[in-house]
Formats: sequence, C-alpha cells, structure tokens
Amino acid sequence: MTRLFYQSRLTRPQLARTDGIYMWDVTGKRYIDGSSGAMVSNIGHSNPRVLDAMKRQMETATFGYRLHFQTEASEMLAERAAALAPDGLGRVFFVSGGSEATESAMKLARQYALAQGKAQRYKIISRTPSYHGATLGALSVTGYAPMTAPFDPMMHPMPKIPAPRAYLDGLDADDPATGLYYAQMLEDRILDEGPETVLAFIVEPVGGASTGALVPPVGYMQRIRQICDHYGILLIHDEVMSGGGRTGRFFAADHWEVVPDIICLSKGFGGGYVPLGAVIARDDIVEDVLDSGGFIHGHTYAGNPLACAAGLAVLDEIADAGLTENAAHMGDILKKCLRDLMQKYSLIGDVRGKGLLLAFEFMDRATKVPLPVDIKAFDRLVEIAYGNGLIIYSRRTRGGFSGDHFLVCPPMIVTEAQIEELVALLDQSLAQFMDEVPDSALRSA
Ligand code: PLP
Repeated sequence: MTRLFYQSRLTRPQLARTDGIYMWDVTGKRYIDGSSGAMVSNIGHSNPRVLDAMKRQMETATFGYRLHFQTEASEMLAERAAALAPDGLGRVFFVSGGSEATESAMKLARQYALAQGKAQRYKIISRTPSYHGATLGALSVTGYAPMTAPFDPMMHPMPKIPAPRAYLDGLDADDPATGLYYAQMLEDRILDEGPETVLAFIVEPVGGASTGALVPPVGYMQRIRQICDHYGILLIHDEVMSGGGRTGRFFAADHWEVVPDIICLSKGFGGGYVPLGAVIARDDIVEDVLDSGGFIHGHTYAGNPLACAAGLAVLDEIADAGLTENAAHMGDILKKCLRDLMQKYSLIGDVRGKGLLLAFEFMDRATKVPLPVDIKAFDRLVEIAYGNGLIIYSRRTRGGFSGDHFLVCPPMIVTEAQIEELVALLDQSLAQFMDEVPDSALRSA
C-alpha cells in the first residue's frame, strides 16, 4: 500500500542508488538507464561536479525570491544559456520544467503580439503527434489524443497540422520535395485560419516521445522558418527533450541552422538533478513586452539559486567532457546496433532519430500495419526489458491508440562497451517478446 499516486496503479521497486548510466534498487538489482529517465538524466546519475556545486550553493543560499534578490547563479546561468543560443536570442526566463517552459513561451508570444498592437493574433499552430506538456495551455497545443481528449472542453482548441512522418506516408525524407510537401501544410493552415489571427507555430525540431524521435525531412525546418517570416508568425522551438546536446548539437535545430524566435529548454538542462527549464527569447520580443507593462507571468521557484547552480554545473560538464560530441558519436554506434536488430527482428519496421535521441517502431515494413492493439507491445516489451535490468521508454505511434515505438536514449556519457551491454539486453528482451507473441499476430503485422 502506498499513499502516493501517479498515472496508474503501477508500482516499482524502491531506488537505492545511482551512478553514471546505472541504477540499483533496494534488492541490489542493477538497471541500465536506457532512456535517461524520461530523456532527462543526460549527463548520467550522481555526477560529483553537480553534487559539489549544489552543496556549495546550499551552504551559501538555497532560495532568494526573484522579486527580492538577484542571485549570482541565476545571472551566470542566464548568461551561459544566451551564449549557447543563436545570435539575437539573448533573454532568458527560468522555469522549473518543460510544461512551464512551453506555457511561458506561449504567453510571451501573446504578450508580444499585444505589445505590437496585434491583439487578433492568438492561435498557436502545432503538429499531430506532438507533446508540449501537461498543463492546460501546453496541452492545448499537444497533438496526442489519449492525453488531451479528457480535457478538450476545458481548453481553447488550437489548430494542428500533421507531423512530417514521411516513413508512414511512403515518402522519401531525403527528397527536398517531401520537406516542402509537409511545410506547405503549415502555409495552407495559416491561410485557412486567417494569417492575421495566427500568433505562433510550435515545433519539436527532433520529435520526442509522441513521434518517437522523428527527424524532419530535408528542407522542412528551413521552409517552416520562411513561412513564419512571411506571415509575421513567431516560431517556437520546443527543445525541452531535444535540447542540451542529446542530438549531437546543443540545440537540435542547429543541425539545420534554423533560428527560431523563442526556444523552450528543460530536461537535460537540469540533467535530472533539479527541476529546471528556460525560455530563451529574441531580445526585442522581451524588450517590447517589458516596455508595454511587463510579462504577466511567473512561477515561485523561477531562477532559484540551487537549481541554477546545478544547471551551471551540468552545462560545465557537457562542455568539459565533450558530451555533445559523445552523443553524436555514440548515437551513430547505437543507431547501427538498432539497425542490426532490425535485420534480426522483422517486427522492427523503422529505426530513427539523431545522436542519442533514438527510437525504433514495430510494424510490418511493407504494409506499415502495426501489431494488434491488444498485444500492448508498447507496454510488454518495456516490462520484459525492465525485468532484464534495462529501462527503455515507449508510446503508441498511431494517434496514441495503436502502434508501438520505443525510445532508446541512454545518458550522453555512455561508452561503446556500455552500448554493447545495453544492446545485448535489448536483444534478449526482443527475443523473449517474440516468444510470447502468437505467430498469427506477427503474420498480420
Ligand atoms: N515538451 C516536450 C518536447 C517534452 O518532451 C516534454 C516532456 O516530455 C514537455 C514539453 C513537458 O515537460 P515536463 O514533463 O517537464 O513538464
């Protein structure tokens, strides 16, 4: 019996200790953290540099409310975040998580429109599938029906366009025509809605849990930027999961050299050590909002020195240990291993992602038909792997109701030997899963 509750009645063993990519429960069983928690523990667990920085900060001041004090840690972290962002995005607003980041970005965009005398702009276009957070604002731009549907009557409907899932639509993601095809959906939707009513477009540059590490087709990101510019629409990059080096560049959008107007960052920014996130915005957006009466928004823990001290140490560790470069290199190795598993298990219909933001999906390669829903493969493989001491992360691919994809995203400190260890456990888990699945189900997939 536990008094705690989360989404379901699922209970897990108690965590005893953590180190690097490994976690141990109180029985002494060891797990490889093959998903960095929820793609958050990017620099691995129990990093001594971060623990030291937090301890030092705790010995001086643990909390200083932003209306009462500036703190050195928050000033320094804002400086570092702005330095990592593209030129022109120099203002930083701290939050405590990903939903707070996207929610804050939406409100900042709206206040900017008001400051510009464009009160009719309020619609934020997003994609399906997508995940931008659990609070009602962030959820209104989320395209994942199992999570949004119960709350539909409580939210303002926001326009959605399809995410560019070329692999499901039978298109070649390397053909520039494919990128243009999907980007055109944005322009068409803007025109349908009335461009003067559209405030922003929010997009995960490399998809997270909802798409399973979807990489946009060639030319898509650049064309999206042009379309937003043409209609005076703000481009918000939700880098909550993809930011922080995981894809092999600090921001995933750096792969395409596209500069957004606002960036949302969290997860790997605090590395799982503290609840931390940030909105990084174009200087003139923030100046206009501040000049027009101020940003009417904020959360109590914003910019607290303990979180910021940890965040600074996380950034130091990423830079000094070359973890972004390691994510690119180890990501290539892990992706090759996943492709090898695809050769071995015909059930794996797609392997995708960038750096260490990687996923594979179960489906028939020729017909794209997923496994029967009642097999609950998304759940079952995760449980089998967990039993074998490997943590991976899954979601349902098709509208959230069928299809199964699995994110394999170990911490960015992972070594080649540890990837071998991880892949061996995954291979074993896939073999066990195959033994459980009736042949008829495999034939129908
Ligand atoms: N945006 C993206 C892309 C995410 O992946 C997530 C969480 O998975 C969020 C926003 C919400 O973050 P949080 O769960 O920290 O509120």
